[in-house]
Amino acid sequence: MLRLLFWIALIATAYWLWRRFQQPSPRKETAAEPEATPTVRCAHCDAHLPKDRALSTGEQWFCSLEHQRLGKHD
Ligand SMILES: [Zn+2]
Repeated sequence: MLRLLFWIALIATAYWLWRRFQQPSPRKETAAEPEATPTVRCAHCDAHLPKDRALSTGEQWFCSLEHQRLGKHD
């Protein structure tokens, strides 16, 4: 009886490990998504860029110092 339980446990562990290797890591999938970094639009040229690379003036965002200086387009 104990031997049978040992084999069941061994097969269950092997199956669990096999499933783990078959499925890609959910962490990797999240990192690959473009929504991971929020994007903002330059108020001057309407270019989309990651928020961490954009420059802000009040509520407006700009892609570069040049466009920040020129300000919002008409
Ligand atoms: Zn711009």
